[in-house]
Amino acid sequence: MQYANFVLKFGERELLDEFEIVSRASERQRIHAALNRITEGEYGYCIDCGEEIAPKRLTADPAIALCLDCLRG
Ligand SMILES: [Zn+2]
Repeated sequence: MQYANFVLKFGERELLDEFEIVSRASERQRIHAALNRITEGEYGYCIDCGEEIAPKRLTADPAIALCLDCLRG
């Protein structure tokens, strides 16, 4: 029983670690993409429809890439 608990905990931990690595990598990618858009002069515009992204949303998440309409699909 103890062993099963250990495996369960260990498995969970591994999953959590993996999740953290993935989300960290995609966060880095998001920020990198935002920096690219600044360089290209496209920062602040939706990458899908080209509409301006509300400044309030950019303040909340500076790496945001989609306007609210495109985000909602
Ligand atoms: Zn859009």
